[in-house]
Amino acid sequence: MREDPLSPPDLGAEINHLRFTLDHVGAYVFTKDLEGRYTFANEMVCDLFGQHLDDVIGFTDEKFFDLTISDELRKNDLSVLKDGNHIEQVERNIIATTGEERIFWTVKRPICGADGKVTGLCGISTDITERLQLERDLEEQKKQLSQVLENMDAYVYIKDREGRYLYANENLARLYSKPVNEIVGTLEQDLLTPETSERLAAMDKAVFDGGCKVTGEEIVSDVNGKEIFCWSIKIPLFKDGKADRLIGISTDITDIILLKNKYQNLARIDTLTGVLTRGFLIEQAESILLRTQRREARLAVLLIDIDHFKAINDSYGHAFGDTYIISIVNACQKTLRESDIIGRFGGDEFIIVIDEADEDGLTIAAERFLASLRDSILTAPDGKKLKLSVSIGAALSDQSSTFEELMARADHALYQAKKAGRGCWRTAPSANS
Ligand code: GH3
Ligand code: MG
Repeated sequence: MREDPLSPPDLGAEINHLRFTLDHVGAYVFTKDLEGRYTFANEMVCDLFGQHLDDVIGFTDEKFFDLTISDELRKNDLSVLKDGNHIEQVERNIIATTGEERIFWTVKRPICGADGKVTGLCGISTDITERLQLERDLEEQKKQLSQVLENMDAYVYIKDREGRYLYANENLARLYSKPVNEIVGTLEQDLLTPETSERLAAMDKAVFDGGCKVTGEEIVSDVNGKEIFCWSIKIPLFKDGKADRLIGISTDITDIILLKNKYQNLARIDTLTGVLTRGFLIEQAESILLRTQRREARLAVLLIDIDHFKAINDSYGHAFGDTYIISIVNACQKTLRESDIIGRFGGDEFIIVIDEADEDGLTIAAERFLASLRDSILTAPDGKKLKLSVSIGAALSDQSSTFEELMARADHALYQAKKAGRGCWRTAPSANS
């Protein structure tokens, strides 16, 4: 059947439609008369009060809210009803039945009659209790996070792709000796020396290029130029699928690195004499030997052993024995070239490795060392003038020598020198003869 456009509107249907809309608008909708009595309330209002509509209409808020705790609602209503004001603000109310506090964003307008006089009010309130709570939680979390970041014993920062700081914690501010607000917004290269910023940019680039976490050691300089070793963890932060920032946590590990270097040196340097330890000397000598053989050159080793050292210890004590050892090493070092290396091989045994040597060079080195010892005199605790005396076994490498074999020949030559009366040197025949 065709609907007649001239037929009167179905007001009942329209009211129902309107009511349905108001019930599902997702906010509390109501009207009140001049006395504050409800003249309309949508379903959400009734649900909030836990009442049927009939038990709401005609009643004031005294029935539904605990106005003794919060009467913001009544004040707002009066402002609209008496003064015709428009209200848009937060309203805190206490539900009478449950005692629960609810916070609303409320909009209230006066309803005016044909004569312009206020006859009541209409209002729409949105419950923002949960949203406010979320905001408060978020704020609290932000505070906690910032406490963690500020108290972390690490430099924490966020940088963009250009190296501009978007965040810096107090620790970083201390490193730069600048307040945080002067660091944020500044490019890293404007805060550091070109070399340091270039080094740091290399790791940042790897984070942005790879789009994943990168860790590693970095060296920065503080404002006084002091080097600071850091262990850095840098993580990309994505926006629209693109890594456009990174968050970095750099922990100062300077003390650990210095300690590591100290222990590394302890393993490499003999504490009594300051020359290389046996292990480190062998490591060095083996690689020098390979390099020398590649150039088809020769390398010489001099194995040095102090003569009758037991007797020195026995006569004057271990401490004087140590002094004796140090004097031998000092005399030896005076005769070395820059490219020669010396190491302590055992108790009173030392090794000199001479790169690019031949028979003549070897002879010169051994003779020069023995001559320098002959010129050195050490005064014993009893005032006796002691001559420094060592025996030397020497060996020259060829293309097929290993360091081990070279040492074995030098040891044999040393035995010969001891047998020949000490205070002299002997050379080992080459491996092929
Ligand atoms: P030789 O001429 O045959 O070499 O006789 P020697 O008495 O020197 O005998 P040997 O080389 O076998 O003895 C080495 C001595 O060096 C034995 C040990 O007590 C002593 N010694 C080893 N290390 C140290 C040290 O660090 N300090 C001191 N004072 N003595 C050491
Ligand atoms: Mg000895």
